[in-house]
Amino acid sequence: MNLESRTDLTPALRIIPRDQHIISRKNVSKAALRVLYRLNEAGYAAYLVGGAVRDLLLGLQPKDFDVATDATPDEVKKLFRNCRLIGRRFRLAHVVFGPEIIEVATFRGLGEEGGEGDRHIVDGRIVRDNIWGTIEEDAIRRDFRVNAMYYDISDFSVRDYVGGMQDLQDRALRLIGDPDTRYREDPVRMLRAARLAAKLDMRIDAAAMAPFETLGPLLADAAPARLFDESLKMFLSGNGLKSFRMLEQCGLLKFLFPATARALKRGDEALRSLVEHGLANTDARIAEGKSVTPAFLFAVLLWGEVRDVAHHWIARGQESTEAWARASAQVVGEQCQRVAIPRRFTFTMEEIWSLQPRFEQIQRKRVFRLMTHPRFRAAFDFLLLRADESPAMRELGQWWAHAQQLPQDVLAAALPAGGGSSASDHVVAAPVAGKPPRPRRRRRKPGGKSGSA
Ligand code: ATP
Ligand code: MG
Repeated sequence: MNLESRTDLTPALRIIPRDQHIISRKNVSKAALRVLYRLNEAGYAAYLVGGAVRDLLLGLQPKDFDVATDATPDEVKKLFRNCRLIGRRFRLAHVVFGPEIIEVATFRGLGEEGGEGDRHIVDGRIVRDNIWGTIEEDAIRRDFRVNAMYYDISDFSVRDYVGGMQDLQDRALRLIGDPDTRYREDPVRMLRAARLAAKLDMRIDAAAMAPFETLGPLLADAAPARLFDESLKMFLSGNGLKSFRMLEQCGLLKFLFPATARALKRGDEALRSLVEHGLANTDARIAEGKSVTPAFLFAVLLWGEVRDVAHHWIARGQESTEAWARASAQVVGEQCQRVAIPRRFTFTMEEIWSLQPRFEQIQRKRVFRLMTHPRFRAAFDFLLLRADESPAMRELGQWWAHAQQLPQDVLAAALPAGGGSSASDHVVAAPVAGKPPRPRRRRRKPGGKSGSA
C-alpha cells in the first residue's frame, strides 16, 4: 500500500556541478573522505548523503557524515578493517576512526515485501527495512526533500532527486511523498520536522504540518528508547530552546511530554520562564563546550508537574518527604512510558527535586549537610532557576549563593543552631543574607567537598 503508492513519485534528477554549489572537501571530515574514496576505488558508488549535504549547502558544519553506497554491508566490511555491522531494523556498516564513526548505508529500495530483501511493515509502520535498491529509490524513502541530496565523490557534483535545493532556497521543510502515509510509517518524522525546523531556521511546510494534530497520538506507539534519543537531539544539541518552542507551537509537546504541556497550560508564567531559562542555559553551556546532563534538563521539564503533585499531597496532610517522593515517582513513571529516561538520570532528577525543600531549612547542621550532598551543585543551580517563582525564592537563591562564598566558621556563627521557627523566618533573619561579611580565609570551592560540619 504505502510504499507502492510512492513508486508513482518519479524522481527528477537535477545534477548540480562542482562550480555551482558551495560544498568543498575542506569541510568534509578526513574520515568521511577516506571512506568515500576507498569505496569509489573499489568500484562502488559512494556519496555523502542526508544531513551532512544539507548542512554543507547551508554553510553549516555538519555534526556527522553519513555515506550511501551500492556496496552491501558485507562488501563494505570487506573493504575496511575498522568496520562493524550494526542494526537490525536498519542494517548498517560503521567505519570507526578513533572517536569518529562514519555510517555507511546501502541504498534502500522499494522492493516487494517477502522478496529478496527484508522489509517488515506492521499497521503501516516500517519495523524493519533491509531491501537494497537504487539511488533513486534510496532518495524517495528519505523523510524531507532537503535530506535527500547526494554529494558524489567521483565528480564532486550534488545530485538532487526530489527538489531539495528548491526547499533550501525557500527555507521550507517538505516531506517526500504523502505526509499522512509518511508519518504513519514512522511517527518520529513529526518530531524530526520540528527539530530540523528549529535547528535550520526553516519553516515546516503547511502540508507537512497539517497531520500533526491527528497523527501526533501515534507517537505513543513509538519506541520509548528512540524517543529518548530524539529528545536528547532536540534539547541537548545546542538548539534546545528553539526546539522546545517549535514543539509547543506545532502542538507536539503534549504527545512527548504530556505533564510539561499540562503544567504550562495551567498558565503559570513563572514555570514557563523556568523552563525557558533552563533550556537557554543548557544551550549556552553547549556553545561554550561545557558538559550538560540530561538529568538536569528533564528535571526542569517535569518540575511544574512534580511540584504541583507534591503540593497536592502535602495539602492532604502527607508528610513533605513522602509527598515529594510520591510525586517524583508518579511523574517519572508516567513520563517513562513515553520517553525511556534511563534510571541513572531519573535517580538524579529525583535527588534534584527532593533537595529543593531542604534549601528552605536554614539551620546550622542542615545547611552544612546540604552543602556536602553530592547533588548539591545541580540542586543549587536548579534553585537559581526558580527565582521567578516568588520574591522569597529569589532571595533564597541569593542567600545560598552568598553562603557558599563564606568561610565555614563565619557561616556557622551566622546560622541558628536549629529548631523552633519556620524556614522562611530563617531566610529573612539569617544575618549573612543582609550584610555579607568579607571572606577572611580561602574561599570555598563551589561544589567542592571541603569540610564537613
Ligand atoms: P542531524 O543534523 O540531526 O544529524 P540528519 O537529517 O542528518 O540531522 P540523521 O538522523 O543523522 O538526521 O539521519 C540522516 C539521514 O537519514 C537524514 O538526513 C534522512 O535522509 C535519513 N533519515 C533519518 N531519519 C529518517 C526517518 N525517520 N525517515 C526517513 N529518512 C530518515
Ligand atoms: Mg546526521
